[in-house]
Amino acid sequence: KFEESKVLQQLPKQFFASLVAKVNAKVASGADVINLGQGNPDQPTPDFIVKAMQEATADPASHKYSQFRGMPNLKQAAADFYQREYGVELDPEKEVAILGGSKIGLVELPFALLNPGDTMLLPDPGYPDYLSGVALAQVKLALMHLSADNHYLPDYQKLDPATVDQAKLMYLNYPNNPTGAIATPDFYKQTVAFAKQHQIGVVQDFAYGAIGFDGQRPASFLQTPGAKEVGIEMYTLSKSYNMAGWRIGFAVGNADMIEALNLIQDHLFVSVFPAIQDAAVAALNSDQSSVKALVALYQKQRDQFYAAARKIGWEPYPSGGAFYAWMPVPKGYTSESFADLLLDKAAVAVAPGTGFGASGEGYVRVGLLIDEPRFTEACERIGKLNLF
Ligand code: PLP
Repeated sequence: KFEESKVLQQLPKQFFASLVAKVNAKVASGADVINLGQGNPDQPTPDFIVKAMQEATADPASHKYSQFRGMPNLKQAAADFYQREYGVELDPEKEVAILGGSKIGLVELPFALLNPGDTMLLPDPGYPDYLSGVALAQVKLALMHLSADNHYLPDYQKLDPATVDQAKLMYLNYPNNPTGAIATPDFYKQTVAFAKQHQIGVVQDFAYGAIGFDGQRPASFLQTPGAKEVGIEMYTLSKSYNMAGWRIGFAVGNADMIEALNLIQDHLFVSVFPAIQDAAVAALNSDQSSVKALVALYQKQRDQFYAAARKIGWEPYPSGGAFYAWMPVPKGYTSESFADLLLDKAAVAVAPGTGFGASGEGYVRVGLLIDEPRFTEACERIGKLNLF
């Protein structure tokens, strides 16, 4: 019998696994569960991307090992994409790293850039997988409390100065999972100044970068003057092109950080299946009309859900992007007890805010990934509990 290593034992418990188990148990009991807990895009990958992959697969060259660090045409497409979409110039060789999805990079980065015992800053609430990188790299975790009062942006003035002195790396994520908050160019300016002053590397997770509501276009961190001196941005094709299963993403920005990420990838990975890289080129080089249609769909679903929630007196925190609604918990409940109640009494699954960290207390996250009439039905069932 083998025991897991001490490091592995320290890995955080996969919070969504316990949520899925609870939902499955409820479904098994015969309930018609409306699942608003999940965050997996449920639309198919656009046809032109699937076709590009199929064509590339027909070429036996795609069946072999391909270059470490990604194919030149994809690195070029990523650089061109940032130039076109954000006016950001990138050197495709030195400032782009191709990844098998952004999660792997986000988990590897602390290992690539920090030594055991170094301090890194993570947002709370935040995407739970960031914690895996902390445990694997054996670094010290310092949380940045985010709250609605400050639009879910960290207030750098309020961080403990001793912790800031020690911190070497910081993660941000806008548009934000779980709150839907988006960052302003002014906040990114403050971030660059803060990072320069305290010599902290910045990793901005732009997983939902393409998904902004009410006509807002989320800014890229790299549009900020000086951003490339202090940090990188993580981009994924999972959300905006519905390619979550394909596992393709990239990192862009500071050449030293990109080199460190590429180095660790050299040791742990070979390359993404070349046909998938070709499909990613097709996606990035496209006219982005599929993305616009998707954003319009999520906006419609957000509006439908908000309307149904408001009808029962449940007022959302206004989401500026990503595909989540961040919903307050009524008095007398915790995030978890409220989520349990909704599953138990209304057969509606939501994700408790505390699944994303202690600062998520008082909220639950709703995935805006289903369509009418299920939103209305979910809210009607919740309304019958007379909680608002
Ligand atoms: N970052 C955030 C904030 C996410 O929500 C997700 C996926 O849910 C990821 C990163 C990972 O995306 P990928 O599919 O590129 O690994």
